[in-house]
Amino acid sequence: MVSSLHRPTKAKVDLQAINDNIEIIKAHLPKKTQFFAVVKANAYGHGAVAVSKVIEKQVDTFCVSTIDEGIELRQSGIKKPILIIGAILPKDVTIAIEYDLLVTVASLEWLEAVQKEGLSLSGLSVHIKVDSGMGRIGVRHLKDANQLIKGLKEAGASVEGIFTHFATADEKDDSQYQKQLAFFTSLVNQLEEKPAIVHSSNSAASLWHTESIMTAVRVGIALYGLNPSGDEITLPYPLKPAFSLESALVNVKEISSGASVGYGATYHAKQSEWIGTVPIGYADGWTRDMQGFSVLVDGQFCEIVGRVSMDQITIRLPQYYPLGTKVTLIGQNGEQMITTTQVAQQRETINYEVLCLLSERIPREYK
Ligand SMILES: *Cc1c(COP(=O)(O)O)cnc(C)c1O
Repeated sequence: MVSSLHRPTKAKVDLQAINDNIEIIKAHLPKKTQFFAVVKANAYGHGAVAVSKVIEKQVDTFCVSTIDEGIELRQSGIKKPILIIGAILPKDVTIAIEYDLLVTVASLEWLEAVQKEGLSLSGLSVHIKVDSGMGRIGVRHLKDANQLIKGLKEAGASVEGIFTHFATADEKDDSQYQKQLAFFTSLVNQLEEKPAIVHSSNSAASLWHTESIMTAVRVGIALYGLNPSGDEITLPYPLKPAFSLESALVNVKEISSGASVGYGATYHAKQSEWIGTVPIGYADGWTRDMQGFSVLVDGQFCEIVGRVSMDQITIRLPQYYPLGTKVTLIGQNGEQMITTTQVAQQRETINYEVLCLLSERIPREYK
């Protein structure tokens, strides 16, 4: 997809805010904790290459989801370790080794398949994944973890780390979290050979459960200044949102009382009204359920009226504004502010999804 540069819709990414967030998070972690920055999914929409370059000195390792995300970072000159936190198919291990990517091994079956296919693991470093209750990927028994560590070493790989992932570290009720922590701690303590790096904490656990941090943390959403819980739990210290989304009015007209707006003619003007058109739509990730939400123009909330189209939305303006007037979809405008979490609440989803859905069509501008 081409990035639409000749359109006023753009995302602004404040890289300094990300630098600052890392410093403040690190200041609250136990000393010597390794910092793994999660930059999967294009750094949660912020731009993986730009973000990784600017934070490389501050972090120990990068985490991505796929081999291709890892290759993108290597090709952009990133030298620090890169861990693929998702499971890869056995046949793809060769390319991971070629690009010096750390691989997550999550089952004995994976190792057996590698051996059956005669693939070499020499030069490979891995982290073992333990499923302590997330139910997604990872071994569920001590016996399997021991066997995996032994087998991988015999096959020529180095087993550098072992980790797990929490399902509910962002919730007030910590019972599931405590169960998973106890399971993982006990498994790690009983390993025949313990890998050097042991990690479990995502952003939520890094912020609210610092007592349980092991040798490393994997921080994603908090890097970007967002609260992993939405607004269920207050942040223990302030973070700076790094992302804002802006556009501009490309059409402004006055319509008469009763006139309809948009597909399905779902909106009718209650009186003579000023309608502005903003060039962003569901193809950009500004989904159809944003109808009824607001954007900011000249420091004022303006409702999105009528359906969200593929490439355009229509908003009700309090008065005429000229073409090119700034429209803020996420961020500050005058005295007012719209947060990613508020957008997520309108959609009954999480702030992560709002950012990840914003498409490549929207250019990212860095400051
Ligand atoms: C995405 C992910 C993280 C980061 O989660 P945040 O909530 O964004 O901090 C950490 N670990 C794993 C395994 C993940 O998939």
